[in-house]
Amino acid sequence: MNTQGYGTTKEHLRSVIRTPIDQRQPSKGIIPVRLEVPELQADEVLVEVRASAINYNSVWSALGHPLTPFQLINGHVRRNSSAGDHNLDVAIFGSDASGVIVETGVGVTRWKHGDEVTIHCSVVDPLDPITQSDAMLSKTQSIWGYETNFGAFAEYAKVKASQLLPKPSHVSWEVAASFGLTLSTAYRMLISPNGAHIRPGEVCLIWGAAGGLGTFAIQLCKIAGARAVAVVSDKKKEEVCKELGADLVINRAEFDAEAQDEVQGHLLTARAIKKLASSRGIPKIDVVFEHVGAATLMTSLALVERGGRIAICGASSGYESTLDLRYLWMDLKKIIGCHFANYLEAAEAAKLIESGAIAPYISSVRPLCEIGSLLDHVYAGESVGKIVLNH
Ligand code: NDP
Repeated sequence: MNTQGYGTTKEHLRSVIRTPIDQRQPSKGIIPVRLEVPELQADEVLVEVRASAINYNSVWSALGHPLTPFQLINGHVRRNSSAGDHNLDVAIFGSDASGVIVETGVGVTRWKHGDEVTIHCSVVDPLDPITQSDAMLSKTQSIWGYETNFGAFAEYAKVKASQLLPKPSHVSWEVAASFGLTLSTAYRMLISPNGAHIRPGEVCLIWGAAGGLGTFAIQLCKIAGARAVAVVSDKKKEEVCKELGADLVINRAEFDAEAQDEVQGHLLTARAIKKLASSRGIPKIDVVFEHVGAATLMTSLALVERGGRIAICGASSGYESTLDLRYLWMDLKKIIGCHFANYLEAAEAAKLIESGAIAPYISSVRPLCEIGSLLDHVYAGESVGKIVLNH
């Protein structure tokens, strides 16, 4: 079976990575591609994709940075000996989709032809014993459509049956495609005992609060009975965070500290944020929701309360960070590395969509063919909430 979609080829990638990283644009790194879908393995299903959603990992895929899609897929194949069929000269990107099952592998019993599903992005070998405790600890684990082939930006996606969740019954294909990766990640970071496990009455500062992760993080804080301090960079995003229920919205453009050196600048920013929060009735920050990395991590470490937790899942601004470690141990703080979610966390998060407790903030629904310019928009930090693609 052939499928058409968006991703890259080995030949195209060679031309992309000749451009220095600071001059690359995601739109130059993603092109229409066609590939032959290999036969289904026993535990796989073929899904006809109805809608997909953009995630920041497709920005990294299209930039070929910090690793190229083919390097990532090679890693997946090294970790999973049965995944050799992912190694092709073509790769299709995308880690969130909804659709209809059109074929099932011989070992799939729980799902059948015609089932309507939401696909979550964690591929893992269920026979690795550690998955019984937390599948994200398995060395076999990969992110579908980022570290694997046959991703969401296509007519058909080949996925493991263990990636499927029932499509929430009352929502559209677009909504069903919009939440998988970011809501599940935010759920693990904030709600799960594997993350910060935020408690009623605590306060969480959320960087990038109007973004894909942030718009879910605000809503999760409210559900947990915690207060949300949202940090954004413009007026429009301030309004979105207020609409979602943030208790305090801070425009970071107002905190450009004049740094004497790198750490000093972070300390000044942290002090300014704490002072503003305190003046608005928020005396301390218990948890920080981190995914910005180099540009904010030292600020997060300085501003979180003694004994507080920083849950971090990414580094959009750079993954090499300078920290003054005295702020970590002297004040008994914790930095908790988080990555997507295990199946239970993803299913618990999806229930919040099913029950209506959480509504994805979808800023636009666009045709799949516009993927390149939409990735540029996300890379420029201009996007709000989730962008969904019609197939
Ligand atoms: P979005 O682009 O939707 O939002 C990111 C937000 O980060 C922006 O809106 C911007 O908000 C903020 N930001 C960017 N640069 C800075 C900066 N220098 N200082 C402060 N804030 C900044 O992306 P997502 O929310 O979808 O993802 C964010 C990151 O998390 C990405 O790097 C992604 O790869 C990673 N991620 C990791 C996952 C995992 O499982 N490990 C899962 C999901 C995402 P503003 O300008 O308004 O401040």
